[in-house]
Amino acid sequence: MIRINENYQSLQASYLFSDIAKRVAAFQKANPGKKLIKLGIGDVTRGLPDACIKALHAATDEMASDSTFRGYGPEQGYDFLREAIAKHDFQARGANVQPDEVFVSDGAKCDTGNFQEVLSLDCKVAVTDPVYPVYVDTNVMAGRAGNWNKETGRYDGLVYLDGNRENGFIPALPTQPVDLIYLCFPNNPTGSTATKAQLQQWVAYAKANKALILFDAAYEAFITDDTLPHSIYEIEGAREVAVEFRSYSKTAGFTGTRCAYTVVPKECMAHTGSGEAVSLHALWNRRHTTKFNGVSYPVQRAAEAIYSPQGQAQIKQLIAYYLNNARYIREKMTALGYACIGGDNSPYIWIDGKSDSWAFFDKLLNEAAVVCTPGAGFGKCGQGYIRISAFNSFENVQEAMERISAVLR
Ligand code: PLP
Repeated sequence: MIRINENYQSLQASYLFSDIAKRVAAFQKANPGKKLIKLGIGDVTRGLPDACIKALHAATDEMASDSTFRGYGPEQGYDFLREAIAKHDFQARGANVQPDEVFVSDGAKCDTGNFQEVLSLDCKVAVTDPVYPVYVDTNVMAGRAGNWNKETGRYDGLVYLDGNRENGFIPALPTQPVDLIYLCFPNNPTGSTATKAQLQQWVAYAKANKALILFDAAYEAFITDDTLPHSIYEIEGAREVAVEFRSYSKTAGFTGTRCAYTVVPKECMAHTGSGEAVSLHALWNRRHTTKFNGVSYPVQRAAEAIYSPQGQAQIKQLIAYYLNNARYIREKMTALGYACIGGDNSPYIWIDGKSDSWAFFDKLLNEAAVVCTPGAGFGKCGQGYIRISAFNSFENVQEAMERISAVLR
């Protein structure tokens, strides 16, 4: 008899995006012809940088000729891209990352979701609340999260690190020992950012507890404050205790093109039951080469083009465009009397709605025809908040904020 992985039955159905879709569909049915402005889901809206398009075209042409055609490439990514990543994203910031520590992939969602596979099922896992749901659900699927507790609205087997107004959505260190910690800065959904001093505390905790930090830096490119770290490897000692995830999705508009990477430093170790240290780089290399066959050659060339002088200038413009939207949203919401986090070094603005998340969502949908994301969908600590995303045209953002102002004033 074929049996299922019963851990999947512990998964809480994610009602968030399907609920939003249902409410939006009902609104559209009741208001045909009304222009809806979507500032909910975190997908980019602007075209790919010209440097990437040119590289994509050139690489596609290479694929047409027998003499330049490429079949399977190295699973870890082509050297041209791994070298560009190590040099520009890390070494240029004083962080020691070598090209062979970079694993190119087709998304940070898969990487952040898959990495736990090489770790023991006995690991005690800590997540922040609110949280990017992938970290939680992949641990539920693996069987590390325990049972869903209706009373607490949480999984019994996970350690939740609360974000709130008081700590500015930078949760404190766990008060009990944990083995695996998911951190995401700049944060989705809250837009909060961690200082070097704060990351130092996490690295020190991980060292003291022989724990591992999975550091999701998918929104690193939005950091404008020069004092903030872009990579956890800017922190001394992090190479021994942290794996970092990056993505071109928001950095360069690659959500539909798909390219990302994971850094696993050679010093980073995990242990067997008998205490023997094992290289995570070797384990991840084994897993990656077994289960993944590489990102397409044209896409890796397009990613490489991001590091050319033209590419760098173009992604700066792209990010500045969204950050200008973010600043505008934050200013308008603040002027309306709502406390905001994010929007300065992040494309997300996390707004204290001073009411139930869904009620606030419904108000913006039904009275302003603007879609946001209710904070409660990201965890218990998100209740009372909404997330507004800056990914849209400035014209739409302006119109959305005019409508929201008229409703909330
Ligand atoms: N990590 C975070 C925190 C995200 O918000 C997202 C996407 O929204 C991802 C990872 C996924 O990135 P990718 O498009 O590379 O899969």
